[in-house]
Amino acid sequence: TIGRVFDLTAEKYPAKEAIYDVRRGIRWSYSEWQKEVNKLANAFLDAGVKKGDRISTYLFNTIELATAYFASAKIGAVINPINFRLKSQEVAYILNDAKPAIVLFERALQPQIDEIHSQFSEISFWFTDNEAPSYAVSYHEQVKHGDSRLEDMQITENDLYAIMYTSGTTGRPKGVLHRHRDMIEQNHVCIAAKRLTKDDRGLVAAPMFHCAELHCCFLPRVQVGGSNVILHHFEPELVLQLMEEEKITVFFGAPTMWNMMLQEKIENYDLSSLRLGLYGAAPMAPALVKLCKEKLGTDLIQAYGMTEMGPAVTFLSEDEQLTKVGSAGKVCFGHELRIVKPNESGPSEPDDILPPGEVGEIIVKGPCVMAGYFNMPEATEKALYKGWYHSGDLGFLDGDGFLFVADRVDDMIISGGENVYPREVEDVLFEHKGVLDAAVLGEPHEKWGECVTAFIVRKEAGLTEEELDEFCRTSDKLAPYKRPRKYHFVDALPRNASGKIQKFLLREKLAEQPS
Ligand code: AMP
Ligand code: MG
Repeated sequence: TIGRVFDLTAEKYPAKEAIYDVRRGIRWSYSEWQKEVNKLANAFLDAGVKKGDRISTYLFNTIELATAYFASAKIGAVINPINFRLKSQEVAYILNDAKPAIVLFERALQPQIDEIHSQFSEISFWFTDNEAPSYAVSYHEQVKHGDSRLEDMQITENDLYAIMYTSGTTGRPKGVLHRHRDMIEQNHVCIAAKRLTKDDRGLVAAPMFHCAELHCCFLPRVQVGGSNVILHHFEPELVLQLMEEEKITVFFGAPTMWNMMLQEKIENYDLSSLRLGLYGAAPMAPALVKLCKEKLGTDLIQAYGMTEMGPAVTFLSEDEQLTKVGSAGKVCFGHELRIVKPNESGPSEPDDILPPGEVGEIIVKGPCVMAGYFNMPEATEKALYKGWYHSGDLGFLDGDGFLFVADRVDDMIISGGENVYPREVEDVLFEHKGVLDAAVLGEPHEKWGECVTAFIVRKEAGLTEEELDEFCRTSDKLAPYKRPRKYHFVDALPRNASGKIQKFLLREKLAEQPS
């Protein structure tokens, strides 16, 4: 179990530096951290948390999130890290679905919880900074009284340990369930791909609520006895400074993060300790990969996957960066990956395997794959049809078995490394009185990879771009990164016979326009 993994490391390397929270200035060895984890676990138990109960975190990258992650695992609770960029109604949706016993939150995110806490009288809100609002209790007060030893809770590898929300094709977030054993397997895969050792020091700057950082980077480093330096949120200059000061050896960044770092004065920093950079979670332009390699002077590897997959299932290794440009690599050990013929009317058949070079749906089978979606038996059955996880991603394999990820079936937009589901944005636009019809899609963007673009059919000609932007800006359903950055006013949207908007036609339209 994840709790056991943590204790084994703490027993093996008690005095070794485990974690450093840059903002708080706290450094703990593994034995110090273990005591804090146990104190928090006991505080959870004292608050009445039972095995299987959910514990949500609405936190930036913090030592409290890192500690709660293991404390929750040790008592068999299910950790639910919520995206810190979500707004109040988006958070409320997740709390209504996950029904956690406790929510940990911090001052920077308090305004959102202020708005919704009264809807959740059965949830206990724990505030991780000083001076908790009246409806919340103080996290540090709760932990202070906890025992630093914890009795064995008899958790097994088949118990659930995490619920991670990801948006589906309908735009409604789905709770992806993972068992302890899924994550142990993911650890092994990531440790091997990155050749992690106890001497590795990782910098956590990508969002910790997301599986790419949490499960592929932070957790495997704990398993091998490495160190984690926790940065509240990504700031390119600070990342470079910390890489030098903290002698960071491994770093994960979404493509947009690497891109922002490249805009800084890299030559002013000594990055000689950095031995490996990991990129993924979105497509990264080969030109950018090349530039990173040149300017940072480090080896790079790529990971591809999805929350549902564990997440990482393919890796493009250091030596393949230039020989297999544009590929996401080969499937990791213990897993199978197939490209199958997409099926219009239901899940694609796992045996309809396409030959190399032909684009189809990516399906995956293996020990890291999720247990299912929380409270969604039908969606689970479809996603795990015949024992294969159906990704909805399109791609192809080349003759050597290297994966090339193409477009996503459901038109998801990835802007600045964040997923944006067009439907969520469209739903908000439709709330505006002056909007008759709306379609949202991604438009290629130099800095963000893609930017959110909206096609609007107006009811009356007077409606302006400024008005719509203000409307989205003040909506409590749209995190800032989901807001359309461009509007195109059209007379009608192209639709097919069954009424679906033909977005490919809109894309063609965009391509024809001078930008
Ligand atoms: P998430 O569930 O948030 O991890 O998002 C998963 C999606 O990110 C996948 O379905 C892909 O569309 C995209 N993705 C992840 N890794 C890569 C990659 N290496 N290259 C291209 N797309 C990626
Ligand atoms: Mg996602």
